[in-house]
Amino acid sequence: SNSVTGQNFQSYLESLHRKYQALRDGNVANYIPELAKANPDWFGIAIATVDGQVFSVGDADHLFTIQSISKVFVQGLALEDHGRDYFLTRVGVEPTGDAFNAIVLDEQSKRPYNPMVNAGAIATTSLIKGNGPTERLNRLLEMFRGYIGHDIFVDASTFMSERTTGDRNRAMAYLMRNFGMIDTNLEEALDLYFQQCSVMVSCRDLAVMAATLANRGVNPVTGDRAVAAGYIRDMLSVMYTCGMYNFAGEWSYRVGLPAKSGVSGGIIVVVPNQIGIAVFSPLLDHRANSVRGVKVCEELSERFELHLFDSS
Ligand code: GLU
Repeated sequence: SNSVTGQNFQSYLESLHRKYQALRDGNVANYIPELAKANPDWFGIAIATVDGQVFSVGDADHLFTIQSISKVFVQGLALEDHGRDYFLTRVGVEPTGDAFNAIVLDEQSKRPYNPMVNAGAIATTSLIKGNGPTERLNRLLEMFRGYIGHDIFVDASTFMSERTTGDRNRAMAYLMRNFGMIDTNLEEALDLYFQQCSVMVSCRDLAVMAATLANRGVNPVTGDRAVAAGYIRDMLSVMYTCGMYNFAGEWSYRVGLPAKSGVSGGIIVVVPNQIGIAVFSPLLDHRANSVRGVKVCEELSERFELHLFDSS
């Protein structure tokens, strides 16, 4: 059947998983030991609907660090804390052809290009309100809890590794402070950024988070609001144009849906008003997108005509 529901859909997901489990292309991230330890066989797919059903297959409950997928949700909190106009004075919404970790700001405005590249994500994180680092971390964890629906934690080893190997991110933060784009404590902002990257999630959690975005900010499993409906448009637009590293343009063309990937091998995809999709598989291509993840999303988009510009 041509819809995402019921028994047929579950067996379709299982066949999709079987098909791509055999694909062994790509490499696991190796810039920190915690990610280099990933098993290339790990592979999960989960889909959550806006009416609260969750379908999953494979390693959908395996926990891993969220990494760059966190950037979407922290953008939402920063927007809630400051409003759209102020947010846009600190971070742009323009895609870059540069690497996600490029040390580059917009020539004219001195803003980082967008909230999905590291510089923009660090500037975004520096905007999170709170009285001291602990309160800011707690607000961030509380925000994630809203999307996920249960308690979460930060992986301490990953956080420490990110922090000790994070000089490139530190360099961006200094550059932004030089231009007044960061005006809070720089090391505290970086710590919070490394902590947000180290939040542990499963593929199932990510599907519910994506479905929350699909459902205008209300978690469809718990019924709790995770983000103001008015900022969903901002979040999805930036995901659509900037969410898949330097594959964003081709992804938009081929899959046609807002998405975000991370170096631990996760991808989330939002089908507005319908479903959230998550894939987890740590083998990455040269752009740092999950190889199996991209394949699965291309096939789902094609099979169910999910591309936003498919005529229906
Ligand atoms: N913690 C990583 C960094 O800041 C995130 C990388 C990613 O998932 O793109 O470099």
